[in-house]
Amino acid sequence: MSNDAVVLTSVTKTYGTGDRAVRALDGVSLTLPTGSFTAVMGPSGSGKSTLLQVAAGLDRPDGGSVVLGGTELTGRSEKELTLLRRDRIGFVFQQFNLMPMLSAEQNIALPLRLAGRKPARGALREALERVGLAGRAHHRPTEMSGGQQQRVALARALITRPDVLFGDEPTGALDSTTGREVLTLLRGLADDGGQTIVMVTHDPQAASFADRVVFLVDGGITGELARPSAPEIAARMTELEEISC
Ligand code: ADP
Ligand code: MG
Repeated sequence: MSNDAVVLTSVTKTYGTGDRAVRALDGVSLTLPTGSFTAVMGPSGSGKSTLLQVAAGLDRPDGGSVVLGGTELTGRSEKELTLLRRDRIGFVFQQFNLMPMLSAEQNIALPLRLAGRKPARGALREALERVGLAGRAHHRPTEMSGGQQQRVALARALITRPDVLFGDEPTGALDSTTGREVLTLLRGLADDGGQTIVMVTHDPQAASFADRVVFLVDGGITGELARPSAPEIAARMTELEEISC
């Protein structure tokens, strides 16, 4: 078993054809070691969301290779990809995407139910505890704050024990205090649980929780910083936005 959770090699992805073709990823190679916490940053339209979708097997690249948890995704059938995603990835978004009619506990159990598995009561309780919501098992999304809802979404993404947790601006809809709570949780998942995490963010403060920040411009990786501070990240982003304008 490799020590890399995700390996992208020369990945390209084009949307549309002819005059309307947009090259969203232009030869991206990136390795995410198991247990690493990576932030992906870049100007709007630089390909960040596409990179996550392709790495998670939610979208197919048109060139290059994606290996997730030691399994090559290229050439898999739609059915195989669905099963791989269900078992190996967790995804959280800016909008929490919880089911409004279900309680926190029922939302968290959903991925298991969809997989035809009956969640063990202890596993759900443990998942709630892990995100600090032991007392909220029976609350519905509307009865919780944004930060609490995102923590439910996080527990739901983690219930299948995925190889990789993907976040597309997971703190984008939160204020800085609740955002920091979610980021501290993510940091702890990587440190204590060896969870591999990759997160897109616009916020240098959020990115500073990661081990490594990778910068994208026009579908290509232009550089990275290891364990950078928020001001270092902000300075790099300012440079990139000047270049890409
Ligand atoms: P980011 O997340 O960095 O803002 P995206 O990955 O969403 O960037 O998009 C990269 C480029 O691909 C953009 O030019 C965007 O307009 C284009 N794009 C993304 N998704 C689609 C799609 N489904 N159809 C057509 N173009 C798309
Ligand atoms: Mg995006």
